[in-house]
Amino acid sequence: STGSEPSTPDDNINVVVRVRPLNEKEKRDRYGMILQFPGNGQIIIESTEGSNKRSRNQENVHVFTYNVVFEPGATQEDIVDYSGIKRIIEMAIEGFSCTAFCYGQTGSGKTHTLTGPPDLFLGKPNPNDPRHGLIFRSFLYLFQLIKNRKDINYVLKASFLEIYNERVIDLLNPGSARKPLAVRWSKKSGGFFVENLFTVDCEELDDLLAVLEEGLTYTTIQSTLQTRDTILCYPPLSIYWNQNCIQSSLSLESHSQSYLVNAFDILKCNGMRNRAVGSHAMNDHSSRSHTMLTVHIISEQQTDGGVFISKHGKINFVDLAGSELTKKTLSEGKTLEEANNINKSLMVLGYCIASLSDNKKRFGHIPYRDSQLTKLLADSLAGNGVTLMIACVSPAQYNHAETLNTLRYASRAK
Ligand code: ADP
Ligand code: MG
Repeated sequence: STGSEPSTPDDNINVVVRVRPLNEKEKRDRYGMILQFPGNGQIIIESTEGSNKRSRNQENVHVFTYNVVFEPGATQEDIVDYSGIKRIIEMAIEGFSCTAFCYGQTGSGKTHTLTGPPDLFLGKPNPNDPRHGLIFRSFLYLFQLIKNRKDINYVLKASFLEIYNERVIDLLNPGSARKPLAVRWSKKSGGFFVENLFTVDCEELDDLLAVLEEGLTYTTIQSTLQTRDTILCYPPLSIYWNQNCIQSSLSLESHSQSYLVNAFDILKCNGMRNRAVGSHAMNDHSSRSHTMLTVHIISEQQTDGGVFISKHGKINFVDLAGSELTKKTLSEGKTLEEANNINKSLMVLGYCIASLSDNKKRFGHIPYRDSQLTKLLADSLAGNGVTLMIACVSPAQYNHAETLNTLRYASRAK
């Protein structure tokens, strides 16, 4: 039955692990696989990097257990069918605050899992494309569910933001890069919210897709520019090439698509040629920022007795910064403040989740207020919410340390 008051679910946080396949280069270079999958939600990982195969025994392995483990052969469809996301969408419709987030080192498959390859959205996306990620598939499922309920009036709204260096930027209105948005506490709703965040009404699936695409375009511009050996310093928005600022104060109001074209035109006009730069510039921005797409689901239903029941649920899809950042940042010339801030959201999230999963600590003080990310996720992490954590890992030997870290972080959350 569908009661009017959402009841607290048994399990607030569900943890699944997705192991990506070895890529072509890793296969060519004959990297060993350090993971084994005995079934029953278990993963076995060798305990030390490059451990001697002959001495592989009980002491040389760690065994972790999760709700579900997706082996390298798992498809995008498997993730939506078996991760528990469908139940989470159903709960969001029922008025719960829900979150699905991907955690893992850069290159472990977070963005692949959530959105699939970026070129999916060039032109009109084909809904049957097997490469579509969790977000697209969740949208399909959401619309499938609400279209079936003619007796309930649904209003959907969506927003898309980024947290970089503890600053909240609106990806649907990148002008906020100049003046990051404030996260405030609302007495009325008893939760945190982002002040002045664009929140778009979405009547049709296409509207939600437009939000997804708009936010992705904006983040893609940055990684594309970076892979072309230019660095988009952000904020403030300026394009640097060979450490010379060649363009700043771009027209922020213009559609991001034309902004991309402009940026390349500028590079071409200046006769600049691509040149290799330090590898940290590659993917630098996307690996350091957290992005969050939120769909609000407001429903109104009239009972037989003529009473109106309204519910406000939501689901956040969060692509976290690379988990490797917790150590690396300082060596890459970031200021201490930046390093601390970049780590802060990830570290506080880990601390909050670990505390919530610990029966002794879960009713004590949980430090949601200590980072922007945890403020925004507080309602889905706490009592009346549901969270799905997808821990993404690489199976390759050279990623051993990061994979072990991620598996530990994820098993603490369970
Ligand atoms: P992250 O967002 O964690 O940094 P990506 O999602 O960008 O990592 O993945 C890194 C690379 O690996 C991308 O080229 C992506 O297409 C590929 N990849 C990741 N996961 C898978 C997978 N399950 N199957 C095939 N390719 C994958
Ligand atoms: Mg990514």
